[in-house]
Amino acid sequence: MRVFADRRTPNTTSDRAGAVFSPFRIEGHERAGQWTQRAYSVLSELAEREPAAGVSLTPLRELFFRRLDGDPWWAEFVRGYERQTTIPAGYADSVRAIVPRMNMRRYMPWLESRVLEFGGVLVDRRVPDLSSAFATGTQIVVNCSGLGAGTLANDTAVTPMRGQILHVRTGMSIPECIVEEGSGVRTTYVFPFEDYTVLGGTYERGETIEATDEAVLRGIVERCSAMLRACGYSGVEGLVRERLRDLAGLRPARVVGGVDEAVRLETERIGDNHWVIHNYGHGRAGVTLSWGCADDVAKRVAEIFEAL
Ligand SMILES: Cc1cc2nc3c(=O)[nH]c(=O)nc-3n(C[C@H](O)[C@H](O)[C@H](O)COP(=O)(O)OP(=O)(O)OC[C@H]3O[C@@H](n4cnc5c(N)ncnc54)[C@H](O)[C@@H]3O)c2cc1C
Repeated sequence: MRVFADRRTPNTTSDRAGAVFSPFRIEGHERAGQWTQRAYSVLSELAEREPAAGVSLTPLRELFFRRLDGDPWWAEFVRGYERQTTIPAGYADSVRAIVPRMNMRRYMPWLESRVLEFGGVLVDRRVPDLSSAFATGTQIVVNCSGLGAGTLANDTAVTPMRGQILHVRTGMSIPECIVEEGSGVRTTYVFPFEDYTVLGGTYERGETIEATDEAVLRGIVERCSAMLRACGYSGVEGLVRERLRDLAGLRPARVVGGVDEAVRLETERIGDNHWVIHNYGHGRAGVTLSWGCADDVAKRVAEIFEAL
């Protein structure tokens, strides 16, 4: 197996993810439930058995501005799910669960090392078009090119959604991840890791420049501080003891019928002996869907080989 990539860790969009298991950011794909549940199980297992992967389990609190009609669809398969009875001021509802969180500074290099362990070869190269990927006798190409799929698969639904975040060293003790229901460009979250805390964020539709904006970052710190105060934390003035880095990433959304995560996971047969398995368009939830989609791709590859 050869992996062609024009960007490798630490320079991909995935390196800029939060990253916490976020089922609430997946809208409407018919197989999203299956993929998400599978990823939850694999990531939880990594948290328990593979310390080098940088995955751990954490309580996650989600805050809503509206009262929920019932429990969210993902409540039935996550551990420790509960609807909260005490709701912080300014919010209408709140749920809690145990979810995996991925320290992307460790998880991404670990994923690369797994490719090498299984005999894969990493090739630092841009693929100009999918047909050139078949040039060396390859029969099956898996297209996981994120935003690059806009060009490679000629898919006009692929749209960048910029996210800006900060990594800080905090003076506070925050024993949970907290995320507010997103509204428009604002999406507010605090994800503490052992060596940094993520403060987010933004959801900027159609923005193509991978750069942060100082005023926006200040706004993020203010929103995170207000959210923590509402949750009863004291000492919020110590939230940012040191700014470690600012990150901007372009989420590879695929917008179809008002849905931003209209993932394309399908097999395209080209002539008699060539196949492309498309796997892109994960938008806000690429980490959350990852292992589920990967399993689906692996099954498709196996089916093609069996039929050969
Ligand atoms: C600020 C932010 C916070 C986020 N937080 C979360 C979170 O908490 N939870 C979650 O689940 N998701 C989160 N996401 C979303 C998640 O990061 C994405 O869904 C995910 O990274 C997409 O992965 P990908 O592999 O499809 O794309 P990428 O990570 O962009 O990888 C695509 C790869 O394809 C390569 N490529 C593209 N075109 C070509 C070409 N022509 N030739 C060769 N190589 C090519 C690229 O170089 C790159 O290596 C967040 C995103 C951002 C920006």
